[in-house]
Amino acid sequence: MNLLILGAGGLGCELLKNVTMMVVRKEIQLDNITIVDMDTIELTNLSRQFMFNTNDIGKYKADVAAKYVNDRFKDVVKVQSLVTDLTLLDHQFYEQFQLILSGLDAIEPRRFINQMCIQLAMLSQFGNIIPLIDGGVESLKGHVKLIIPGVTACWECSISTLPNQDVASSDGGNVPLCTIATNPRSLEHVVEFVYIKAMEKGLPKDWDQDANVVNQLLSQCLDRAVKYNINKDKLVISYMLGVMKKIIPNVSTTNAMIAAQCCLELFKIYNDLVDFDSNLHNFLMINGSQGQFHYSFTYDRDPQCPVCSALF
Ligand SMILES: [Zn+2]
Repeated sequence: MNLLILGAGGLGCELLKNVTMMVVRKEIQLDNITIVDMDTIELTNLSRQFMFNTNDIGKYKADVAAKYVNDRFKDVVKVQSLVTDLTLLDHQFYEQFQLILSGLDAIEPRRFINQMCIQLAMLSQFGNIIPLIDGGVESLKGHVKLIIPGVTACWECSISTLPNQDVASSDGGNVPLCTIATNPRSLEHVVEFVYIKAMEKGLPKDWDQDANVVNQLLSQCLDRAVKYNINKDKLVISYMLGVMKKIIPNVSTTNAMIAAQCCLELFKIYNDLVDFDSNLHNFLMINGSQGQFHYSFTYDRDPQCPVCSALF
């Protein structure tokens, strides 16, 4: 069995670790694991991506993650890395896999891989069904979607349920980084961008106690507000700190929880333990920001879905 892991970030590394352990413990047998990611390692990744260290900054995540496993388990597991934009890979590439685990952090590549799996099912007239297990994490929240082309809802079937893309700091939602970076619409977008960039460069410990750092950040926010013609009347230190402190970076434990659930689904598929006759709970969500909330449910296929409705 050839397994594909999409993403070698916080969630992708957890997925790779779990799959490796499953092989080491002989819970599953794999011929090959391929991990795809186009990003390089940055300082801010190190807090939650345990396969990387400071010497790896600037290297490709997929390469370093694959080497981490290959060095330690070379007689048991074989991991191949691929540094590329996964949306540039074609049918011939994807059809060599029997299962795909996705640890992506953006919507468009998810839509791409979902569509790819549906197309492969169609082209092969259901001879090549590749289950897609999609994990997603955002600070204290996460989801797992089990997508079996032609059987369950596909990723696109539930696209209308994505949370309202509003600003993180006011309602706990989140804005895609591209919006914050290229098309900020509010003062909160401005502050969030400045904060994310500052974190990437590395903020000193207790930075919010350092008047120099705080004033520098405020001045960057003011410049950015002016640049994008956003009203800056509210933009004082207390407002800026209030927004910045509500931003919760990705939490490694949420990654671990979601990766564990993804791999449990992998184990069930591998051992033919998925009971399709019952009311299969194909979606799971956790939300640690409001108590301890876990919920799984059946998400039905959308008969109007632009991607998978053609299957029937
Ligand atoms: Zn669909």
